[in-house]
Amino acid sequence: MNRNLRKLWLIVPDQLPAVIRRCPKCKGKTEFQNSGKFRVNANGKLIDIWLIFRCSHCDTSWNMTIIERANPENINKTEYEGFLSNSHELAASYGSDRELFIKNKAEIAELKTGFHILKTETVTQVNEAAYMEIQIKNPSGLKLRADALLAGELALSRSQIKKWFDGGLVTSGQEALVPGAKVVDGMLIQIKKEEAIRQESLDV
Ligand SMILES: [Zn+2]
Repeated sequence: MNRNLRKLWLIVPDQLPAVIRRCPKCKGKTEFQNSGKFRVNANGKLIDIWLIFRCSHCDTSWNMTIIERANPENINKTEYEGFLSNSHELAASYGSDRELFIKNKAEIAELKTGFHILKTETVTQVNEAAYMEIQIKNPSGLKLRADALLAGELALSRSQIKKWFDGGLVTSGQEALVPGAKVVDGMLIQIKKEEAIRQESLDV
């Protein structure tokens, strides 16, 4: 991998988030799971699209609004086909979009699952002062500590990563990160050169 290019880490939960809501049939709060299926209503001139969630106890459905009363011309054709064929990728991307849950006033159940990271290289050259730049994408809002994430992904010991944090070598937005800092969607982590240079074996 080219160390002079900024890396992009997309954090993907192994299980899609569930929604906590009152189930009219169970008469209490239950977890509604992402069914992976869409409902498309194209009866009139306008199109509505929902992602269907189901109560994990009784299967009652709840529809999360994806597109509301949209003009067909404004809907991406490929995506529209995906909704009709219940595309797994679309169900996963819309089903982990925090903004969408908020818009639908849906409460996300705390994710208890593991995650994996899709790593790619961007075309952005790293800032000269930084040895390594990692742009984090965490659209599902998994609660992760930056120190644990970096230690795990860069194969560093806890004491090594602690030294980096204590020495102020790990920064984001010009500020040194504290070891307990959480990984926020969109954050750019920069790891300064001086210490990292001694980590010649380091490879992201
Ligand atoms: Zn139920």
